[in-house]
Amino acid sequence: MIKPIILLFLAFAIGNAYSQELPEYLRAETKQFDTENTTSGTHYHKNNRVQDYGDVEKRSYDVLNYDLYLDLSTALNSNLEEDTFFRKYFKGYNKITFKITDENVPFEFDAVNLNIRTLLLIESNNIIPISLNELDTLFDKFSINIAVLNFYSNKNYTNGDIVEILIGFDSKAEDDKDFWRNRGMHIYHKGYDVGNKDRFGNSVIVEHNIAYSMSEPELARYWMPCNDRPYDKAKSSITMAVPLGYTTASNGILDTRYVRNDGVSDFKIQKWVNNEPITTYLMNFAASVFDTLHQTYIKNGDTIPSTHYFWPEDRDDIYFTAVKSMETHPGMMDILVDNYGTYPFATYGTVSVFPFPYGGMEHQTMVTQNRYWLNDEQDAGFVHEMGHHWFGNSMTCATWADIWINEGGASYTEAIYLESLQGEQSYRNVIERQVREVLKRNSDNSAIPVYAIPLSSFFNTNAYLIYDKGSIIHNQMRLNLGDEQFFRVLKEILEDFRYQSVTTAEYKAAWESKAENPLVDIDTFFDQWVYNPGYPEYDINTRVDILEDNKFAIRATLIQMQDQNTAANPDVTKVFTTPVRFKLYKDEKNYELSEIFVNKEKNQTFYLENDFFPVKVEIDPVSVLHNTFSSVITSVQLEDYVGDLELYPNPSTDGFSQLNMNIKNTVQNANIELIDLIGNKVQSIYNGRLNPSSIGYKIFTNGLAKGIYIVNINLDGINTSKKLIVQ
Ligand SMILES: [Zn+2]
Repeated sequence: MIKPIILLFLAFAIGNAYSQELPEYLRAETKQFDTENTTSGTHYHKNNRVQDYGDVEKRSYDVLNYDLYLDLSTALNSNLEEDTFFRKYFKGYNKITFKITDENVPFEFDAVNLNIRTLLLIESNNIIPISLNELDTLFDKFSINIAVLNFYSNKNYTNGDIVEILIGFDSKAEDDKDFWRNRGMHIYHKGYDVGNKDRFGNSVIVEHNIAYSMSEPELARYWMPCNDRPYDKAKSSITMAVPLGYTTASNGILDTRYVRNDGVSDFKIQKWVNNEPITTYLMNFAASVFDTLHQTYIKNGDTIPSTHYFWPEDRDDIYFTAVKSMETHPGMMDILVDNYGTYPFATYGTVSVFPFPYGGMEHQTMVTQNRYWLNDEQDAGFVHEMGHHWFGNSMTCATWADIWINEGGASYTEAIYLESLQGEQSYRNVIERQVREVLKRNSDNSAIPVYAIPLSSFFNTNAYLIYDKGSIIHNQMRLNLGDEQFFRVLKEILEDFRYQSVTTAEYKAAWESKAENPLVDIDTFFDQWVYNPGYPEYDINTRVDILEDNKFAIRATLIQMQDQNTAANPDVTKVFTTPVRFKLYKDEKNYELSEIFVNKEKNQTFYLENDFFPVKVEIDPVSVLHNTFSSVITSVQLEDYVGDLELYPNPSTDGFSQLNMNIKNTVQNANIELIDLIGNKVQSIYNGRLNPSSIGYKIFTNGLAKGIYIVNINLDGINTSKKLIVQ
C-alpha cells in the first residue's frame, strides 16, 4: 500500500491537496499500524542473520475459508447527531473453516476491539457451543480487549481434521475524534467536517455516510476475528447488510443480492465471493452511496471485468473526475500482463473513499484509494496498486520481515510501467528518484537492511527502504541478469508462487535456481543488498588520454570507501561485488552510458574507450545504488592538445600581441582569457570548440594599464598560461 501519515499531518496534507502538485502522501502509499496489538513475529536480529531466515511462525491450523457476515445497517442508518455507539456500531459473525496442523496446540485467533458474543463449533451441521465455562472466561477476556482469542475445544482432534467455528461479535465503538481509535473499521457520516478548507474556501466534508475497512498490516482483526498473519491464505466471502440505496464493494465478485426485512425496515444483503486464495490483510469492504464505472481488460484472450466505485458527485466534477482518472487502467493492465504474466485474479476494481489517511491500499481485486486520487494525476499510485496484484497479493510476503518484496515489487512496477509507456529515460528517471530518496534518508549509510524491518517502522521511518530500496534491488537484479533473462525468470517466479506466500529465503532461492550466469552470484547479491544494509561509497579517479583518430582512453579507478565511514552501519558490506556502468558526460547535462563492468575489488581500475572527451565521469546510479566520496578527473597532457604555443611581441609595445598555437586534436571546450595578477578577467579571447588546425588570436593591449597579465588557456579542463607584459 501507500505511506503513513499521522492525523496531524492529515490536516496539513488535505489543505494542500488541491494544489497542482499533490502532497507526497497522496501519491505514495501510506499505512498505519498498531504497535500495541501486533502479534506476528519478525525475526530480524542483527547478529543472528542467515540461519533464522525463512522462519514462519505458523499457528496450529491452516484456515481454508472465511465466511464473514457484517451488519453495517445501524451505523449507516445513523447520522452525525447520534451517539458514537450507534454511529460506529457493527456486528457480525465469521465462520472460519480450518484444518488442524498441530493437534497439541490450542487454536489462537486475532481479534481486537471486538466484543466476542458467541463461539460455536459446527460439526456435521450440528452447532455445538464451546464449553460454556470457557466461553464465560472468553467473554471476560474480551471485555478487557485482549488481542488473541485462544481456546481449546473439549474434542480430541488429530492433524488433518477439518474444523468449523462460528464467532459472533460486535463492535466496541469509541470516541471517533481519534481516527485511530477505531482503526481497521472506518465509519463516517454525511456532513462530517474533515477540518479543512478546499481551494474554493469550502469546508471539506463527507458527502455520504460511508463504512470501509483498512487491513494492512494487522488491522483486519479490528473488524473480524481471524488468523491475521500474512502467510495463511484462504478463500473468503463477505456478506454485508446495508440500508436500501447503499452499494457495497469487496474482494472477488458480487455473488448474491437481495432485500430483507428484519421486521422494522428493509435492508439490502450483498454477498461478495472471493475464490482465489487471500490473506487477511488483503480482505476489505466498503459501503456507501456509490456510483460505478465498468471496464473490461482484455489480454491474450483473458477478459478481466473491472468495476470502480466512487461517490456520484465525483464522476465528472471540476476536481474529482473518476471517469477520466480511470481511463489509463486498461492500458496499465496490458503493460503489466506483458511484463509479469497472466493477471492472477478474476476481477479488478477500486473503491474511492474519504476521509482516508492514505493514498491507496492494494486490497485484493478491490483497491481502496483516497478520493483525492480521482484527479487524473495519480497513475503512479494506480499502477503501484495494480502491480501489487502480482507482488503482494498473488505472491505474498510470508512474514512482515519479507514486506520489501511486496513494496519493492510494486514500486518497481511504477518504473516498468513508464518504461513501456514512454521509454527508457522515464524508467531511469523513476529509479534515479528512488536512489535520491534512499541517499537522502540514509545519507550517512547507517540504516538497517531492507529485510526484517520491525513492524513499528516499515511503514513510516523506514518505509523508503522497503519501497525505494526494494525497487532498486529489483532494478539491479535486472542489470545483473540482463533484460531477457530477468523478465523470463521474474515471470517464472511470479507463476511459481502464484497464490502462495514467499519468504525472502525462498525468493532468493528461486532467483538462484533459475538465473544462469548472473554477473554477480545471487547469494552475494542478496547478502549485500537484502540481508545487509547500506551501499558502496566510491572515490572515483579518472584519467583520460587521447588516442589516434579522436579516440579517448579512459581509466577509471574506483576505491570503495564505505569502511572508512565511521558513521556507517558496521554491517555494510566492506567490498561490494556489483555491476557498474559509467556516465560519460559530453557537457554538463548530456551523457552516454558505458558498457557494464563488474566491480569486485576495493581498488579497481576500469579501462574504456570513447569517441569524445568526457568532461565528467560518474558511476551510473541506475547501475548501482551508491554514494560518491570524491571524484577527480585528471587528464591528457597539454602537449597532446596543443603545440607551437607562442606569444609575441612580449612585452607588448604596439598595442597588441599575437597568440599562436597548433591544435592537434579536437577540443570540445576551449576557454582562453586574459586575466590580471589577482585573477580578474580582463578580456575573453576565445570560448568554444576548436578543430585541429593552426590558429592565431590578436590580444589588444592599448587600453590596458601597464603591468603583468596572464593569458590563461583552458582546453577541455587542461590549463596552461603565458605571462604577458604590457608596457
Ligand atoms: Zn504498496
